[in-house]
Amino acid sequence: MDGSWYNVLMTDCIFCKIVAGEIPSYKIYEDEKYLAFLDIMPWCEGHTLVIPKQHVQWVWDYENVGEYFEVVRKIAKHLGRVSGEEVVRSNIDGWEVPHAHIHVKPGKNNGMKGEQIAPEEMEKIRAKFTMLS
Ligand code: 5GP
Ligand code: ZN
Repeated sequence: MDGSWYNVLMTDCIFCKIVAGEIPSYKIYEDEKYLAFLDIMPWCEGHTLVIPKQHVQWVWDYENVGEYFEVVRKIAKHLGRVSGEEVVRSNIDGWEVPHAHIHVKPGKNNGMKGEQIAPEEMEKIRAKFTMLS
């Protein structure tokens, strides 16, 4: 492989576009290296994706995965605190988007079924869970 496949992936990567601000997202956390935003097809209120800004396909490809998990932990604790839920689930899939991401999901589904919800509702949820000032 000559690297062109990787470059094409980065150019087309929807999460790289979110990092670059080329497409909108409901951000709840951002620092120099990581970003967290609401999943567009949520399975619960506060369903969040935490990503490294650097494009790697798999979580396991990210060199500083310990640091990455510390950020995920901070966000998971925050989502648990704000939602008042004891259970904060998390999973790593990657069936759809080839940019490393970790799902963090506070509480039960409460009727959400991985379907898009109204933008006003998404904005309310973002405002509730944001860690940005
Ligand atoms: P996975 O790759 O983990 O199997 O699924 C990708 C996840 O990213 C899905 O839960 C999907 O709803 C979410 N997703 C896909 N495209 C976008 C997008 O453009 N914006 C946001 N916020 N989430 C997305
Ligand atoms: Zn990417």
